[in-house]
Amino acid sequence: MNFLHLRVEEHINHLATFTSTPGHGVTRLVYSEEDRQAKSYIKQEMRKLGLDVEEDEIGNIMGIWHGKNPELPQVWTGSHVDAPLHGGKYDGVVGVIGGLEAIRILKERGVQPKCDVVLAVFSSEEPTRFGVGCLGSRALTGMIREEDLDRWCDDHGQSLRQVLESNGKQPEKVLRQQINPAKVKQFIELHIEQGDVLENKGIPIGIVDRIAAPSEIQLTIWGEQRHAGSTPMDLRKDPMPAAAEVILLVERLNTSGISSSSVGTVGKLHVTPGASNVIPGMVELTVDIRDVDKAKKDELIMELEKSVNDICERRDLSWKWKINGNDSPAVMDVETLHVIKQCAKELNYPYLLMPSGAYHDAMILSRKVPSNMIFVPSQDGISHAPEEFTSTFYIVKGIELLALTLQKITA
Ligand SMILES: [Zn+2]
Repeated sequence: MNFLHLRVEEHINHLATFTSTPGHGVTRLVYSEEDRQAKSYIKQEMRKLGLDVEEDEIGNIMGIWHGKNPELPQVWTGSHVDAPLHGGKYDGVVGVIGGLEAIRILKERGVQPKCDVVLAVFSSEEPTRFGVGCLGSRALTGMIREEDLDRWCDDHGQSLRQVLESNGKQPEKVLRQQINPAKVKQFIELHIEQGDVLENKGIPIGIVDRIAAPSEIQLTIWGEQRHAGSTPMDLRKDPMPAAAEVILLVERLNTSGISSSSVGTVGKLHVTPGASNVIPGMVELTVDIRDVDKAKKDELIMELEKSVNDICERRDLSWKWKINGNDSPAVMDVETLHVIKQCAKELNYPYLLMPSGAYHDAMILSRKVPSNMIFVPSQDGISHAPEEFTSTFYIVKGIELLALTLQKITA
């Protein structure tokens, strides 16, 4: 155990105390009291390290380590500190405290970067509160429109605009505070893998080459609400068996070979009225489909929509189909990917080139800024759960690799 190990554990355990569900994992909804506490802890750590701290109108925090020539395009690193319901201690946090410690390592080694190195904490990476992920990086890349401020609401019906205003922010400015690609030359995000590929292969480092993009589809199927006892089977218009067919279809389409890399999930099902003795009048479900291959993903979604139409027509039901997000998969920057590989070799860390099944701020940022990701293993592949765990041993390797990479690309 050295100081770096101890500091990493201290940061992670301290941040984990900012949760609205103590004893049941980390729950840190964006713009909640816990989120503010976590962000203020990071700001304080940034200042201790001598970084200039700024916060923008959507709540992104930037800690700036000034380089020798502030005119040169900056290099960014970082991730997020918001957490889903009953999540873990590591998702996002590893990239934020990892960036902090990577900068500390470089400072202690007497490194003076040519350009600014910016540690970014992106607001609301998790879609938990507003149903849309990566709000902070979306704002920076111009992917939030005026109407989204009113359209995106939380469970209490409060719009993004209202929540920002009650946090003392100016929502209108969110639309104008975009990143200037001429001023940022690179973004590198350190993150836990959230899957079990690295662990199964016994490899400490993943270097991401592509990020799969999710499409979230909201499907509503309407039938006729009737008495479960007195309505004969042949007179029913029951949306539930149709929903069951759709759920099985999602599984089948994603294992049928249309795409070798797609995954599909029905994670939410809402039955109305939801009583054991009533044939439902309406069933709502979400379908989450992800793939690193956009063409294959689109083909799959088209196939699914066609089949939903067939199922509902056969059962005489009406339906509505709404695609909420249809982001494009991201390809990571080839040049920096090569530098990261070289640095891993220099440090003697075995690595694996791999796609990311989960999306991250790097996926959004990559539209404007060349972006890359470094993964460290997740124990048993578990994430978004209280059991989420990555050993400090691996996190420190990720930080050392990030530090050396930052050093090389800012030299
Ligand atoms: Zn994350």
